[in-house]
Amino acid sequence: TEREPIEEARPKTPVKPMTATEVKVNVSIPEAAERAAATGADGVGLLRMEHMILSTNKTPERYIEDHGVDAYVDEIVEGIRGVAEEFYPRPVRVRTLDAPTDEFQQLQGGENEPNEHNPMLGWRGIRRSLDKPGVFQHELDAFSELYDMGYDNVQIMFPLVNDAEDVLRARRLMAESGIDPDKRSWGVMIETPASALQIEEMAQAGIKFASFGTNDLTQYTLAVDRNNENVANRFDELHPAVLELIGQTIDCCREHDINTSICGQAGSKPEMVRFLVNRGVSSISANIDAVRDVQHEVKRVEQKLMLDSVR
Ligand code: PEP
Ligand code: MG
Repeated sequence: TEREPIEEARPKTPVKPMTATEVKVNVSIPEAAERAAATGADGVGLLRMEHMILSTNKTPERYIEDHGVDAYVDEIVEGIRGVAEEFYPRPVRVRTLDAPTDEFQQLQGGENEPNEHNPMLGWRGIRRSLDKPGVFQHELDAFSELYDMGYDNVQIMFPLVNDAEDVLRARRLMAESGIDPDKRSWGVMIETPASALQIEEMAQAGIKFASFGTNDLTQYTLAVDRNNENVANRFDELHPAVLELIGQTIDCCREHDINTSICGQAGSKPEMVRFLVNRGVSSISANIDAVRDVQHEVKRVEQKLMLDSVR
């Protein structure tokens, strides 16, 4: 009898490598959830809330004015729920609203946005949220609703924080929405040099994780506009200064048993993966198309670390 050629006898579905470092996936829009989950990723490292709001073509304020608060909260709940469901019980890290004023200006209601000389250094991320607690509270209410529905895999991530004061204020608002900060997983993005240098204080303020937003961390550390082609050749996520900030932050987080992660584009790059695994990062989040390569790179680095340790 003829035997099946060895090649064809191999399993069709590739086997996911087991690694100590988790490999997660970034989900750009809720519609990509199914494809993202099929990568076998250990969870979602970044789901941006912007798309859920900006796709309505209205600023949050205009949306609420036209459709009411409940509809606004529903919009967010539904956007997150699809992804949380697809990945359950794997964790899904959702970042609260982080759009600069010039993006809001493009939308209905955008005429009320301030004209900023430099929106990337302006009123965005947690700064805007803390200044407009009314709107921010609706986002937090959406999380609260998701927890009530049983989606305990949802995690809350705050963008563009600088220090413990930002963290404590966000934490208070979370509690006001009925979310117990001691029970839920919530944390910050490390996107400014200040946040990396203040990690100890933020750890004391109770964060459960810190995730490197290397797109912004690189921009702000090197003073290189991430959207300016004249300086694009100087935008280097592997610059020693950026790596130093990341390394110090990981060391501090390890002392406090705080989960560390990367959700910037650099998490899909093999050089960054090697650096992070060697430094002991807890998880790496990559683009959908990069997840498999990152899984294998992580495996390779971990095996090498293990061999080195017994030599
Ligand atoms: C980052 O800054 O690395 C990040 C993931 O956030 P965004 O690209 O949305 O600014
Ligand atoms: Mg960012």
